[in-house]
Amino acid sequence: MFNPHNLVRNNIRNLKPYSSARDEFKGEANIFLDANENSLGSPLLKWYNRYPDPMQWKIKEKLSVIKQVPVDQIFLGNGSDEPIDLLFRCFCEPGVDEVILFPPTYGMYEVSANINNISCNRVPLTSEFQLDLEALESAIKPNTKIIWICSPNNPSGNSIDRQDIEMVLNNFDGLVVVDEAYINFSRQKSLVTDLADYPNLVVLQTLSKAWGLAGLRVGMAFASAEIVGYLNKVKPPYNISEPVQELALKALDEIGQVNDMILQLVEARKQLEQDFVMSPQVVKIFPSDANFLLVEFTQARGMYDYLVGKGIVVRDRSNVLLCDNCLRITVGTDAENLKLVEAINSFQ
Ligand SMILES: *Cc1c(COP(=O)(O)O)cnc(C)c1O
Repeated sequence: MFNPHNLVRNNIRNLKPYSSARDEFKGEANIFLDANENSLGSPLLKWYNRYPDPMQWKIKEKLSVIKQVPVDQIFLGNGSDEPIDLLFRCFCEPGVDEVILFPPTYGMYEVSANINNISCNRVPLTSEFQLDLEALESAIKPNTKIIWICSPNNPSGNSIDRQDIEMVLNNFDGLVVVDEAYINFSRQKSLVTDLADYPNLVVLQTLSKAWGLAGLRVGMAFASAEIVGYLNKVKPPYNISEPVQELALKALDEIGQVNDMILQLVEARKQLEQDFVMSPQVVKIFPSDANFLLVEFTQARGMYDYLVGKGIVVRDRSNVLLCDNCLRITVGTDAENLKLVEAINSFQ
């Protein structure tokens, strides 16, 4: 039976977390002289003289309704980068434990592992960018603490087979993190609604992609209340600032507008695929469930440089495993996509 209390590092299980002034006071009051804030105000708006809610309850209450997840199973961080780092710090003993990654995938898991001195066991995806379950089985060791799955995967764009993810969740007794940064563009269903079935599941989502708020830096982790409790214990007390909390709260009221943008971007992605198919420079377009396309060119580096010369920047992934001669291209506005296709077709 999976039990997060057995998996967590000893020093974190025993940690007495920082207790802020706002944590210690419970009840009604209107004179706050407990946190050494500037009682007179600030050069900006009056309320920025006060520390923000360390637990971001208002945002979590809204997210709880949107995602159908209880508030105590939601963690908010400074981008997804923060929960990624906190998962290493809570569950992996530096110099001792290992995690498993499936390259080619999002680079931050490995960087964060390296920062925390955790070694990465790399199990390459298949040529179809799916999990190699046999190779995974033999890669799991007693000191393997976390398996990182990105679905839809960056940079390939496809979703990982749901049955394979469930197989991993059912058979691995460490944490399985499923990074769903691009889930809103996918035909695949999110795993957030299945948290009750999988005590070892952590789902990562973000406001940076479909929600259009990469500049805000708000990432979400959904997991059991026990796992979320450990992340909260270790996070800096005020990890989401007051203006960011206000803006995130406002944005969450605009689901309709966000859904319209998602539909538009998916349509634009389909149009781009059609345009690329016609291009003699394009060798292959990989199936995408995200707001970007991985595209194999006859000469990726030449095309990359040519596009930069035209003021268009895409992501060169040609040196990445299984991505020979590939560029990763974000879906732009219709006008941007038109210019991109024109530029690609004018390459000699
Ligand atoms: C863009 C992206 C994120 C988002 O990171 P933030 O820190 O929330 O902006 C997370 N995971 C993957 C795979 C991504 O591509």
